[in-house]
Amino acid sequence: MSKIKSINPWTSELLGEYDLLKQEQIDAKVAGSASAFESWKKVPLAERASLMKKAAEVLRKNQEDYARLISAEMGKVIRESRSEVEKCAWACDYYAENAETFLAPETINLPDGKKAKLLHQPLGTILAVMPWNFPFWQVFRFAAPTLMAGNVGVLKHASNVPQCALAIESIFAEAGFPKGVFQTFLIDSKATLALLDNDEIKAVSLTGSEKAGAAVAAAAGKNIKKSLLELGGSDPFIVLADADIAKAAETAVKGRMVNFGQSCIAAKRFIIEEEVFEPFMEAFTEKINLLQMADPLDESADFACMARPDLAEELYAQVTKSVDLGATVLLGGQKPKKGSAQFSPTVLTDIPEESPAFKEELFGPVALVFKVKTTEEAIRLANATEFGLGGSLWTSDLEKGEKLAAQIDSGAVFLNAMVASQPALPFGGIKKSGFGRELGRNGILEFVNTKTVYLG
Ligand code: NDP
Repeated sequence: MSKIKSINPWTSELLGEYDLLKQEQIDAKVAGSASAFESWKKVPLAERASLMKKAAEVLRKNQEDYARLISAEMGKVIRESRSEVEKCAWACDYYAENAETFLAPETINLPDGKKAKLLHQPLGTILAVMPWNFPFWQVFRFAAPTLMAGNVGVLKHASNVPQCALAIESIFAEAGFPKGVFQTFLIDSKATLALLDNDEIKAVSLTGSEKAGAAVAAAAGKNIKKSLLELGGSDPFIVLADADIAKAAETAVKGRMVNFGQSCIAAKRFIIEEEVFEPFMEAFTEKINLLQMADPLDESADFACMARPDLAEELYAQVTKSVDLGATVLLGGQKPKKGSAQFSPTVLTDIPEESPAFKEELFGPVALVFKVKTTEEAIRLANATEFGLGGSLWTSDLEKGEKLAAQIDSGAVFLNAMVASQPALPFGGIKKSGFGRELGRNGILEFVNTKTVYLG
């Protein structure tokens, strides 16, 4: 492949074709990053913050254009695309306002009366390998803390969103960031792995599938470089008998259908106590049935299509295999048309343990429903997965909720709310959902050298 294609998944229209970088171009750009780092690391934090604020302004000024681009390249409905752009501006503001506090040197008082200082210093060029599902947000939640810490960034974006990738590079340029501080590389997977052999690339952050994460982390590990992996999830959404069922059902639909289900932290497995199973399911399926499919640019669209036809095909294969093994289709389940990215929202129950629906991540609008007799069974089932990203638990007893949250094996638990990322909250997983944390103070400290200076 020497070109990357931008294709609208709703219309199948070819929007543009872009040449992949040649090796000599990649080398020159990496050298550009390395030299930009030498000056960027010395730029005072207040100056970096004012540029980051400018990036937020550029995002807000051009919000509509960026939102339309996101919708055109990966099929997200326009209202959600606009929110995504605004959320990126929020992250830029947040790190502009908080980075100085997060990175401030810390003093340690030692037992012998001596002191030591901890400095948080940048590492150099950090590579970001990013996915298409939130093509702006995934990049900004990496870039805002990473650049504020004094690092420089190189983006290898997913191959189906090259226009978003180039637009993001232009945002940092328009905001006034010095040349080389943030660059987009249009390259394939092979060239991405090769980049990790380059001494100038100091670490990598990847969001995507387990397969991509394993390949990139192995290449980083071989070179003794740090990696941060934010991979898939099969998040539980647990509804206990004492929960507000109407609110839980309404949020469950949002939690599963946001971004047409293509979100790592989407609620995927609905684990419902038997006393409230019927009223929950009635409200849940009724609300799913009301969702309107339309052109992603249509203001009234609740959903449009998946980001690529192959993703719809893959999801359907997971559904049919699960049905063949005994799962029951409560809603949807229709075969997508050949070459189409459209998919009918689907609800499955009676899910056998050996089925893909039980074991794998279903990255699209398919809800998996389980009925349980006890709270203990709910927690056991919630943890019966290789993933550990997020989880949502519904109960009117917050004290009990907190105790149960501690028993769920995941990077986050949201009580009486859907799992959602926001700049101040550390975000990341355990088990096959990856390692490391983005966002919050933890996020900015992932790519720094925390240096101990002993004052003798
Ligand atoms: P991938 O994980 O393949 O893509 C994510 C990023 O990794 C892209 O930039 C991709 O580049 C890159 N990549 C993929 N393989 C390699 C490799 N061997 N070496 C270096 N870089 C690589 O996602 P897909 O688009 O294939 O989606 C497949 C599944 O991944 C989804 O169904 C879902 O389960 C999961 N996924 C999870 C996401 C999350 O938020 N955790 C986001 C997106 C997908 P390129 O596009 O050029 O292949």
